Amino acid sequence: MSGSVVVLGAVNVDHVVVAGRLPRAGETVVGPAMVRHGGGKGANAAVAAARFGARVHLVAAVGRDDVGDGALAELVESDVDVAHVDRLDGVPTGAADIGGDGRGATQLAGGAGATARVAPDRVRAALRELLPSCGCVLVSTEVPEEAVAAAVEEATAAGVRCVLNPAPVVPAVTRLLRHGPVLTPNRGEAAELAPDLATLAARTGAPVVVTLGGDGVRYVLPDGEAVDVAPHPAKVVDTTGAGDTFNGVLAARLAAGDNLDRAVRTANAAAALSVATAGARGGPTRAQVRVALGE
Ligand code: ADP
Repeated sequence: MSGSVVVLGAVNVDHVVVAGRLPRAGETVVGPAMVRHGGGKGANAAVAAARFGARVHLVAAVGRDDVGDGALAELVESDVDVAHVDRLDGVPTGAADIGGDGRGATQLAGGAGATARVAPDRVRAALRELLPSCGCVLVSTEVPEEAVAAAVEEATAAGVRCVLNPAPVVPAVTRLLRHGPVLTPNRGEAAELAPDLATLAARTGAPVVVTLGGDGVRYVLPDGEAVDVAPHPAKVVDTTGAGDTFNGVLAARLAAGDNLDRAVRTANAAAALSVATAGARGGPTRAQVRVALGE
């Protein structure tokens, strides 16, 4: 039986303005309209895993405000269980202001809000309840480092596979390598973590999976063997959130019992399909990915 996916990470609301160019310091630029949509790596990955057919529980925090109400309603609509998303008083739901020039350059200013208050003891309690039926825990590092550590430690103690998306790279990641998480950095994060991937994989004793944007994926095994997975052909519309879809589907497939190679190839195809549509949220269904892989 396939286990559920437990995701720890941020729930945000994104405000996006695409103008002709990015503003300089002190300057105002105006685009045609501000578009508001759900964001946060945790929530995005949770939705991607649920779209793919996994049972998904999100562990996170939002404020007791209208934005939090909307964020939770969107997650429920996407079949993500939000019973372990705390509502916090006196702190706003996380938000990000994103500017774009319409040609691929972006800038982002985020306010962590409730995400900065995700409490380690709440994470431990949630995981102890959820781990018995869980097949994979996915952790991203936007939440406080003690909360990240709590999730990785609980998953390890329960013998449940843990995928750690080090975005951003925080000091706790290095401390947690000994627990053997499957790391999923992008190219820049991988370079920040270690000069070479083989060293990193030897330290975790687990595969390191590096997403390489339009160049696909490379994963390195603890014995140093590297496997390159070619990018799945994509008609690129918007690459925002490609990594979140990748991580969500990877966790969904690992929870369902796939081996790493198969899970990586499926996530690579799913992420390629996701860049063909606008917005950071969503991702393809399992049926759509199967068609893309010719299965
Ligand atoms: P992040 O969004 O975290 O920076 P990447 O840019 O590395 O992550 O993208 C994650 C994954 O999305 C890639 O490994 C690949 O599978 C897929 N992807 C991203 N951009 C493209 C693209 N242009 N063509 C095909 N696949 C892509």
